[in-house]
Amino acid sequence: MKINLLDLNFQELQEFVAEAGLPKFRAKQINEWLVKGVADFDEMTNLPGALREKLKEVAVTGLPAVINCLRSKIDDTAKFLFRLHDGCIIESVLMKYKYGYSVCISSQAGCRMGCKFCASSDIPFSRSLTSGEILGQIIAINRHENIRIGHVVIMGIGEPLDNYDNIVKFLKTVISEESLGIGARKISLSTCGLVPGMLKLAEEDLAITLSVSLHNPFDEERSEIMPVNRKYSLDNLFEACKIYIEKTGRRITFEYAMIVGVSDTEKHALELCRRLKGLLCHVNLIPVNAVEGKSYSRSSKKSIENFSAILEKKGISVTVRRELGRDINAACGQLRKQLIEEGNS
Ligand code: SAH
Repeated sequence: MKINLLDLNFQELQEFVAEAGLPKFRAKQINEWLVKGVADFDEMTNLPGALREKLKEVAVTGLPAVINCLRSKIDDTAKFLFRLHDGCIIESVLMKYKYGYSVCISSQAGCRMGCKFCASSDIPFSRSLTSGEILGQIIAINRHENIRIGHVVIMGIGEPLDNYDNIVKFLKTVISEESLGIGARKISLSTCGLVPGMLKLAEEDLAITLSVSLHNPFDEERSEIMPVNRKYSLDNLFEACKIYIEKTGRRITFEYAMIVGVSDTEKHALELCRRLKGLLCHVNLIPVNAVEGKSYSRSSKKSIENFSAILEKKGISVTVRRELGRDINAACGQLRKQLIEEGNS
């Protein structure tokens, strides 16, 4: 088994270099190439030829290979399809905002959570991604586009807290100066509500933003659309949120999909307000995206406005998510399905 260099943090890379009997500065040189997204050892021109040959024998860079890039014709969104070393296929989405580039990355090849409205739930789960494969998505896009991504959201395929150790290693690495040096405050991690992972994350001392996919304030109804709620009820979830906020001092963003009749009535808005009362939080309303074969339809503009007004009146900070990349199926929950078909063809 060859070692995947992107899976190593800088300290581990230094150890790898020391164990190979090489001078310390080689770690710095190799790291600079890795961060630039150079996958081929022969392009690492400041390394002696013999060292490049040796590296080829024992290691791979572990950078995901871009196999397709779909660009939206209506906005500056691009969807990247990657192949990993074992043939697994994953996706990331690059978005351009006024403040710069943001990328939505995947944490697993597939997802085990089974949310009813999400396209990832129908596709078999392959495996969790390593920290290097998570980081590699950002590095590969930076190189492909010749840009510097400044913001990261872990909202692509997979449940990040179902891949806890790799996601935390990724976070600590991507923040570090030796790697991409992306500020923790510019990173959001979204979870469907895996309570033990949330409590552990609260102890990591990372100033990232935690997003919680809530989607419904009633236990019975949430359990219908999100099986995770059968394991961790809303009481458990909100208790964990409270602890997270107390420990980190940071507000939580609640993602709330607006689905006609399922989550968008006044009754839902009022119960949501009751649940969120006194909590340091923000609500992001997402008009649900249609997924082939699923019967959920998005709420009208009017009912989203009404819902939002109820929250605002109770003093809850709320925004409505703008949809990007509509023509390339780049929106929440739409990744993966089409990709498998493409990947198999
Ligand atoms: N597993 C994590 C992160 C991936 S999903 C989580 O559940 O948070 C990213 C976000 O997209 C989540 O809020 C998810 O609930 C939402 N989502 C999934 N399918 C969607 C759809 N069809 N329309 C709108 N949002 C969707």
